[in-house]
Parts: sequence; structure tokens; C-alpha cells
Amino acid sequence: MAIAEQAEPVDVAANLRAVRARILEACRAAGRDPAEITLIAVSKAQPPARIEAALTAGQRVFGENYVQEAAARWPELRARFPGIELHMIGALQTNKAREAVRLFDVVQTVDRPKLAAALAREMERQDRRLPVFVEVNTGGEPQKAGVAPEAADAFIASCRREYGLEVAGLMAIPPAEEDVALHTALLAKIARRNGLSGISIGMSHDFETAIRFGATHVRVGTAIFGPRPPRRSQPASGSSSS
Ligand SMILES: *Cc1c(COP(=O)(O)O)cnc(C)c1O
Repeated sequence: MAIAEQAEPVDVAANLRAVRARILEACRAAGRDPAEITLIAVSKAQPPARIEAALTAGQRVFGENYVQEAAARWPELRARFPGIELHMIGALQTNKAREAVRLFDVVQTVDRPKLAAALAREMERQDRRLPVFVEVNTGGEPQKAGVAPEAADAFIASCRREYGLEVAGLMAIPPAEEDVALHTALLAKIARRNGLSGISIGMSHDFETAIRFGATHVRVGTAIFGPRPPRRSQPASGSSSS
């Protein structure tokens, strides 16, 4: 990738410490055990130096939105930093299921039968069973990904029974302008009645509220890495970003 315009220097290690401290404080205030919370560092579109700074500071759980971008950076980082856990949190096309199963450890954006089927087939083929989250469109936004809340129970059941997927939790991306509290409570309610423990919701601007209302996985990008530099173009397939 061409050298992008100088990105602002960001103290990723300090930001990570601050975010972790805020998670601890949110847990304390809510009477929750901090061990229940997984911090997912969302590294989409971030310069490699910032990601390495997070790894050096001990962060091991990351989220990416694009298969191509993840393919360009994570295999090499995994070889250098043991114990990485990579979550797919972006919209996933069925024809990228093979690469997604190879690259990621958790797929959080399962929201339709065709994708569930494609992932199940690839897991079988690669003999690599990943836990998945079902994405729920808690805001009922027509243009957004995710299964409708009223269709979630049936879809979760079919992911388990028809496709044999290990459903570990639910994920939602609520409308930006709405209070995350209601969406977290709804997600938690659907999770509870389906016997699911994972609740992935809460981003940089609202993760403390999400924790208060039951989130177990918070997906934090800019609060750790700083603002995302403007995206120039998708990295070409197979090219390295170093
Ligand atoms: C980008 C992104 C995040 C992180 O957002 P920030 O506001 O940078 O914390 C979380 N979840 C999803 C699905 C995202 O696409």
C-alpha cells in the first residue's frame, strides 16, 4: 500500500489503558464481574503501526469489517503475536465464507440462511468450527443487516439445528442516534430466552452504557486507535499492507 498521508500520532497504549479502566469502572458501577466483558479492539482502516502498538500493549482480541483488509494484515501478525482472537464484525458476503472461516476465530454477523449454510459448509470442509454470533437488527432499519428481532428465535434455532453452528451470542449495531440502553436490553432479552451468553453491543461512544445493560463484548475502535484515516481504496486481493 502506498504511504498514506501522515496519520496523527496516537498513544494507543495509553488509550487502551483508559478504555480498560472505563470498563472496570462501568462493571463496578453495575455490579458486574469484569471477567464477563471482552474488549474487541476494532482495527478497520487503521494504520499497521497502531495495531502493532495495541498488540505490544497486550491486546489480543480484535475486530475487522472487511475480509480483504483482514487477509492483508492478520496472517503475518498472528505469526508474530501468539494468542490473537479475530472477530468478523462487518457484513459478510456468502462468496467470502471460505476466506472468512480461514481468517477469523469468530463470525459475529450471521444474519441469513444462505450465509449460515455457506459458513457451515466451509467449517466442515476446513474442519474448523468457529463460534458465531447472530446479528439482530434491533433498530428495525430496513437498509441494515441483521435478522428482525421477531425472527431471531427461529433463525437461531435453524442455525443450530439445520446448520449445526455453534451460536455463542447475539450482535447488534443500533442506529447511531439512539440510546444503546434499549437496544442492549432487547438483545439481552432475546439472548436469555435462547440460552445465549454472548451480547456484542457498545462502541466507543456508548460502551459503558452497553455494559450497564448487559453487554459481554464491546467493540471499540476510535477510543483506542484514534480517528480512522480516510479510506483510500480497498487493498488489492493478496497484497500486503506493509
Ligand atoms: C467500526 C465499528 C465499530 C467501532 O466503532 P468506534 O466508534 O470506532 O468505536 C464497532 N462495531 C462495528 C460493527 C463497526 O463497524
